[in-house]
Amino acid sequence: MVFGPGGAGKGTIASRLVAADPHLWLSRSWTTRPRRDGEPEDAYVFVDRHRFDEQVRAGGFFEWAEFLGNRYGTPVPDPPPGTDVLLEIDLQGALQVRDRRPDAVLVLLKPPSPAVQAARLRLRGDDEDHVRRRLASGEEELRVGEQIADEVVVNDDLVTATAEVAGIVERYRSQAARGRGPDEGS
Ligand code: 5GP
Repeated sequence: MVFGPGGAGKGTIASRLVAADPHLWLSRSWTTRPRRDGEPEDAYVFVDRHRFDEQVRAGGFFEWAEFLGNRYGTPVPDPPPGTDVLLEIDLQGALQVRDRRPDAVLVLLKPPSPAVQAARLRLRGDDEDHVRRRLASGEEELRVGEQIADEVVVNDDLVTATAEVAGIVERYRSQAARGRGPDEGS
């Protein structure tokens, strides 16, 4: 699971990872946030607050959180057999996943600096008020995030950071395969 503050590059890295690895399955989140100009229609399942809360009551979310006035939730995952689930979420979601699935691998993705993070947020169309609030909440996300993360990757260069996360996925997969292997304990 990849988590971290807005502007760290989680979305871009997650889509590159699933494009390159057929055994990774990216969960599509629901949100009450309106779609941004130019944002793909399938970036989220975009719903209103009423529909979101219905889904909460029906127990349809694995985790959900409110972030800067909007709700975001991961549906209970239903991946095809033989795939590993990739979640792209914020710190509050990561804390819930940590509790519910202690076997999940938490990768904290960090922007190289607040200035780069702010530039990325502006580039995707966030207004100044949002940029300021996201930077402020990002500081806290990084502080707590570092404490709960299994792995930390700095997204300075997209290609390098994507390769680093892909390497982490491979490493944990082969550890899990060894754990299940017939030679276990011998
Ligand atoms: P954005 O509005 O920039 O798309 O997302 C805001 C924050 O919500 C980001 O940190 C993003 O990773 C996080 N987020 C997206 N989907 C989910 C989700 O399903 N659950 C949680 N907890 N956070 C999410």
